[in-house]
Amino acid sequence: MSNSQQVCNYLRKYKQLFAKKIYVSPKESDSVNIKNYPESNYNLNQYKSLISNCQECQLSTTRKNFVFGCGDPNADLMLVGEAPGFDEDNEGIPFVGKAGKLLDKILHAINLSRTRRVFILNILKCRPPKNRDPLPSEIEKCIPYLKNQIKIIRPKLILALGKVAGKSLTGKDISLKEMRNTNYNYNGILLRVTYHPAALLRNQSLKKFAWEDFKWVKNQLIS
Ligand code: URA
Repeated sequence: MSNSQQVCNYLRKYKQLFAKKIYVSPKESDSVNIKNYPESNYNLNQYKSLISNCQECQLSTTRKNFVFGCGDPNADLMLVGEAPGFDEDNEGIPFVGKAGKLLDKILHAINLSRTRRVFILNILKCRPPKNRDPLPSEIEKCIPYLKNQIKIIRPKLILALGKVAGKSLTGKDISLKEMRNTNYNYNGILLRVTYHPAALLRNQSLKKFAWEDFKWVKNQLIS
């Protein structure tokens, strides 16, 4: 499909959704960038269908699935991981591998689940080959999607899982230990950082700290 066909398809879809709310002149359409549209105008499903074809970086050429995120669209708690791995790329759902199973158990222990009051997503929507670390350029291109998801869902609390999510959301390049137990403000939303479940699988001694963090989350959501 040519570039102009892609733009036309995009505009047609956009017109169906928001015909009365926006006018895009043919000239402006050449530089159309969906990340800049007013996110509050659409719901999560509409937003998903708008961005799931993303080809902003090279990960789009190796991914099997664009992993948008999953959970309760009215979530109070948003959990932000790093990037899809092998299983997540295959299924198109975040945290379905071993780390995800542990996350499900932790959520269950505080009376939550991935379908009740929780939305789970990642900093990157596509799997980096061989699960390498996300590149700064990939994070920069992908993070506007997360920002818009946050604006649509408006959770009470965001919990960043691991160093990559913590650094991307707090802007601080410090150790995870230093990031913990601090209240950050992410565009008016309370943000905390805890260990990534994969780190807990690698190092059992971290579990007690993560457990303290999730108990804090539970108290925060009931207060
Ligand atoms: N690790 C992550 O950070 N995210 C996933 O979705 C799976 C594993």
